[in-house]
Amino acid sequence: MIPKFVADVMLGSLSRWLRLFGFDTLYSNNFKDFELIKISLQEGRILLTKDRILAKSKLLKEVIFINSEHIDEQLKEVFLYLKDKKFDIKSNSHRCPVCNGEMREIAKEQIINEIPDYIAMTIDEFYICDSCGKIYWQGSHKEKIDEMREKILKSID
Ligand SMILES: [Zn+2]
Repeated sequence: MIPKFVADVMLGSLSRWLRLFGFDTLYSNNFKDFELIKISLQEGRILLTKDRILAKSKLLKEVIFINSEHIDEQLKEVFLYLKDKKFDIKSNSHRCPVCNGEMREIAKEQIINEIPDYIAMTIDEFYICDSCGKIYWQGSHKEKIDEMREKILKSID
C-alpha cells in the first residue's frame, strides 16, 4: 500500500521532500489539531507531527511523531515507520512540491515559450503540475532527489 500523509505546520520542509519522492502529502500552515485528526481518519492519511500531545491522541490510527529538527533524520523517521508497517516505500508518481498536485509529462513544444532558452536547448523531458501549472524539468534537481532517496533508504536498511 502506498502511504499518504497530512503534516502539521512545523513540517513544511518534510512535506516538500515527501512530495518530491512522489507521496501524496497535504500541508497547510493553518490546519488546527482537530482538522489534522479528521483529515487523517477520513482520508486514511498518516499524520506527521512534532506535537507530542497530538501524537498521543487515542483517536488517531496512523501517526508519526517527528523528533528530529534535521530533514534527513526526519525522512529517516518516516521511512522507518513505513518499513515497520510494511507500506510501499517506493512511489513512481510525481507530485508538485509546491501544491501536492499530480504532475504529468508534457511535450517541449507546448511549453517552449514558458521556459528559458538555455533549458529549451539542452533539456527534453518536461513535467507540468495539473493543479498549479508549474513546469519542471529533468536536471540537477532530479539527481539531488535520487541522492537523498538513496541516502535515506540506505540508512534504514
Ligand atoms: Zn503544483
